[in-house]
Amino acid sequence: MLLSWTVVRLKLLHPFTISRGSRDEIPVVIVRLSGEGITGVGEASPSVRYGESVDTVIRFLKMVEVTGFPTSSTTESFAAIDALAPGNTAAKAAIDTALHDWIARKSEIPLWKYFGLNRDAIPLSSFTIGLDSLEIIEKKIREAEEYPVLKLKLGGPEDREIVRRVRACTSKPLRVDVNEGWKPDETSIDTALWLEGEGVELIEQPYPAAELQAAARLREHLTIPLIADECFGRFEDLERISSAYDGVNVKLMKCGGPGEAFRIMKRARKMNLKIMIGCMIETSVGISAAAHLSPLADYADLDGNLLVSNDPFFWTGNRDGRIKPGDTPGLGVSMREGIA
Ligand code: MG
Repeated sequence: MLLSWTVVRLKLLHPFTISRGSRDEIPVVIVRLSGEGITGVGEASPSVRYGESVDTVIRFLKMVEVTGFPTSSTTESFAAIDALAPGNTAAKAAIDTALHDWIARKSEIPLWKYFGLNRDAIPLSSFTIGLDSLEIIEKKIREAEEYPVLKLKLGGPEDREIVRRVRACTSKPLRVDVNEGWKPDETSIDTALWLEGEGVELIEQPYPAAELQAAARLREHLTIPLIADECFGRFEDLERISSAYDGVNVKLMKCGGPGEAFRIMKRARKMNLKIMIGCMIETSVGISAAAHLSPLADYADLDGNLLVSNDPFFWTGNRDGRIKPGDTPGLGVSMREGIA
C-alpha cells in the first residue's frame, strides 16, 4: 500500500484559549493509504503537550514509509508501527485511522458497523467554550444556542465569575475542563464543591497530570465524576488512573488510533470507569473516526472540526451536538472542493 501525507493549516473561528495558552491556527497532517483502488484517510493533530509537532509526525511517517508495516490486520499493523518508536501517538493514530477507513471501505461497511456497535447508543456531544473575557464568553454561549451540552474551559482566577455568568444565560448541562490549571490546595476543593453545587456534571483534569494523589483526595469530596485527560493516554495507564479518577477522556491522538481506543473503552467499561470520547482541534477525518466509536462512551466531546473555518473535508455526522455517523463505507467523509 502507498502511504502519503499533506500538511493542512487549520484556521480557528475564534482564537482557542485554555489554561495553557491561546492559538488561532493549528497545523495537522492528513495521511492517505492507497491500494487496490481504495484510499483510506487518517489524521494526526499533534500536540506540544505530548511532545509532538508536524515535524515529529512527518519524521515518524517517513520512518514507516521505509520500514513498511503489515496491512492485513489492524492489530498486527498497530503492533508493528507502535514498536518503531515510543510516543508519536498522533502519527500512529493517523496511520491506524487510514487503515481502518481502508478496510471498512473495502468491506463496504461504515466503521461503527466494523466495530459491531449500535449507532443509536451515542450520547449527545458537548460544545466547547474556551477561556475568554466574560463578555465574549456570554456572546459565545448565545452563539452556541443549538448545542444542548456545554463544556467550559476553566483554570483561572475568574472561574466562579465565568460559571455565574454562564448560569445567568443558560440552564443547559455544563461540564468543566480545567486542563491542569488548578493548584492542589484547599481553594481548589472549595471551587470544585461550589461547581458541583452549580449543577456541573463533571470536572476534567483539575490538577497537573503528575498530581495523582491530589486528584484522589479531591475525588473523596465530590459526588460528580472526576475525569482524567492530560494524565491519561494509553491502555497501560488505565490501572494507575483508576486509583484517582472516576473516568477517562479517550482521544485517538493520545492513544494511537481507533483500534487502541476501542480496546481502552472495552476495558474501561469492565473497570467501571466512566468513558468520555474527546478530540483535539481536528478536521472531520479525526472527528468522524472518534464518532464511530462513540456508542461506547458515556460522554462525547467531539466538536474539534466545528471550531475551524477551513476543514478540507465534509462530514455531517456531528451537527448541533447530535452525533450520527452515516451508512457510507469507512469514515464517511468526503473532500471539499478547492480547500485542501
Ligand atoms: Mg480536556
